[in-house]
Amino acid sequence: MKRVPFDFVQAGGRPPQEEQQPDFDEFEATELYCPKCGRAVPVRKSLLLILPEGDKYEYTCAVCGSSVGDKIDKSGQFYGILKT
Ligand SMILES: [Zn+2]
Repeated sequence: MKRVPFDFVQAGGRPPQEEQQPDFDEFEATELYCPKCGRAVPVRKSLLLILPEGDKYEYTCAVCGSSVGDKIDKSGQFYGILKT
């Protein structure tokens, strides 16, 4: 038996190179799943409301413009952690 396993050669090949991204220490989610588009899409973050507990941001799909999520940035909490 001297068959060359071609499948193995293909599987062992290098994975397709994706776009190289610089290192981010911490980066906010810029892609979220959009139910309308049925896939992960780039999102736009916009300030929606300023609440006593923090600033409320809304994420909207950059493709179809529908809301895909929101979050509250608790600005006060950050300083609370820093204080000892
Ligand atoms: Zn969408």
